[in-house]
Amino acid sequence: MIKDNLEKVQIRINNVNHTQSVTLVAVSKTRSIDELQQAIDVGQQHFAENYLQEALIKINHLKSQNLIWHFIGPIQSNKTLKIAQNFDWVHSIDRLKTAKRLNNQRPKFLPKLKVLLQINIDNEPTKSGVLVEQIDELMTHFENLKNLTLRGFMCIPNPDNSQQSFTKMAEIGKRCPELDTLSMGMSHDLESAIANGATFVRIGTDIFGKRA
Ligand SMILES: *Cc1c(COP(=O)(O)O)cnc(C)c1O
Repeated sequence: MIKDNLEKVQIRINNVNHTQSVTLVAVSKTRSIDELQQAIDVGQQHFAENYLQEALIKINHLKSQNLIWHFIGPIQSNKTLKIAQNFDWVHSIDRLKTAKRLNNQRPKFLPKLKVLLQINIDNEPTKSGVLVEQIDELMTHFENLKNLTLRGFMCIPNPDNSQQSFTKMAEIGKRCPELDTLSMGMSHDLESAIANGATFVRIGTDIFGKRA
């Protein structure tokens, strides 16, 4: 049951020694509105989606319920307008062009869009994300993007050595004390992510069950 699963995940989070505050983000890609509603009914507020069309249906359907929506999927240019109009957080910024489009398209009546740089922390050629050596240069541009707030970093590490990758992320975070967010840790590795300073953990399977 989704309610019991949420409680179990929260207990796992509480059982890790940490001083930062940790927010559980429910990754709801492929899940039905009914499944999301079950989580909402027991107080879950943060949801993350990877696929824009699917997300827009859910956001629209659930809009009276004060939810906080995170976009965590790859961003093609033709998606930035709807992302800028409908989301609170974007975790998957990996190039300046995307950031500029989101900045230009964020409606003025909404709060600034909170964004994270997705880091290709294991330097994997097949994965998206900013390389570690590109971070500093990319960050210099955010001062001019007045409709975005850069809050920190996100990664999807190689599961074979995620602990090491989380430690590298912690070091990157410490180099940027003005930023307060690290989005890392999924169902199988949330403990080591939190031990390394994660402030968002992104959990799908352990809340909603295996995806089809
Ligand atoms: C699907 C997904 C998750 C959730 O993964 P689980 O293993 O189901 O907990 C987290 N982050 C991203 C970027 C994802 O695409």
